[in-house]
Amino acid sequence: MNNNVRNIEISGIRRFFNKVVKVPEAISLTLGQPDFTVPEDIKKAMIDAINLNKTSYTPNAGIYELRKEISSYLLKMNIGYSPEEICITAGGSEALYSTLTALINPGDNLLIPNPGYPAYESIGVILGAYISGYELNSDFTLNIDNIKKSIKDEVNNYLVLSFPSNPTGAVLSEEDVKKLYKLIKENNIIVITDEIYASLSYSSYNSIASYKDIREKIIYVSGFSKMFSMTGLRVGYVCASLPLLKEIIKVHQYNVSCANSIGQYGVLEGLKNSLREVENMKEEFTKRRDYIYNRLQSLGLEASMPQGAFYIFPSIKKFNMNSEEFCERLLYEGKVACVPGSAFGTAGEGHIRISYSYSIEEIAEGLNRIENWINSLK
Ligand code: PMP
Repeated sequence: MNNNVRNIEISGIRRFFNKVVKVPEAISLTLGQPDFTVPEDIKKAMIDAINLNKTSYTPNAGIYELRKEISSYLLKMNIGYSPEEICITAGGSEALYSTLTALINPGDNLLIPNPGYPAYESIGVILGAYISGYELNSDFTLNIDNIKKSIKDEVNNYLVLSFPSNPTGAVLSEEDVKKLYKLIKENNIIVITDEIYASLSYSSYNSIASYKDIREKIIYVSGFSKMFSMTGLRVGYVCASLPLLKEIIKVHQYNVSCANSIGQYGVLEGLKNSLREVENMKEEFTKRRDYIYNRLQSLGLEASMPQGAFYIFPSIKKFNMNSEEFCERLLYEGKVACVPGSAFGTAGEGHIRISYSYSIEEIAEGLNRIENWINSLK
């Protein structure tokens, strides 16, 4: 058995979800799976693709029309990658895995956000990287000094950025992205920017990938699981300058050969004709965010207002329980499931993640139960 693999655990999010399944009467606000169905045009394109027998391997990097469409889509956000600089992957997960595998040698320094999406650390551990968790400001925005402190002179540095953030909903401000640009330009550092929630930015959207003169140092990871509410169809992508992408594609090829063909045809249609529906989903998420934020405020649960994604990360420090204990009791006694903040790194302790990718009725009922349970503690 591989020692590095032995050293990692299954994700804390899934681990907790497995407990939730055993409490069938609980309301679950745990997962990052939007409750919307896949836009109709995408469904139809996938059915057509099946009927036209488009079920064989696609090129390793994905169907060219889709790479072209992604290239045009990104350009609207001032992010410039040619179709040749884009590889379609089996979800954002595989994009991250293939990218980090192509980059990292044992002992390289992997800088990851703390709190952050758990996959970064686990993939890094599997690859034998040295993990440097960088802490964020108290509102979970970027703290550039903490990143600077984590850079090491003697090894390669790989910086993972993750905005809009899972689990906090924080985004990158214009000011932060300028500071980052300077840091990247002046240091020996390659950036992997995971922007899978970019289409769910409620205020401004700023990406380090829009700076052209550092493009050789940037790898842009994204996907359609959240954007088109199609988590099970597994279509994501990675963009990088050709020398980097060439290495990533080698790993991708031996890993999955190509992303699933039917999903690729669905996404192609989605980028052409379903962007209005993405905007509608975003409007709905904004309403849910405002609702959940106000309810938590009135319950005295302090949280930063999420500016992107569909998670909120309130503090539970005043309850004198750790986040695992808080979530277990809330599940078994209050019948609501949220994810313990500790699943996202040491700096996630003292918080819980609530996903608002659920219907407003479920969110409202979940919050009623949280309110009753908190009152029962008094
Ligand atoms: N990055 C982040 C920040 C995520 O939250 C997720 C999914 N929860 C992924 C990547 C992976 O997404 P996919 O389903 O496309 O593999």
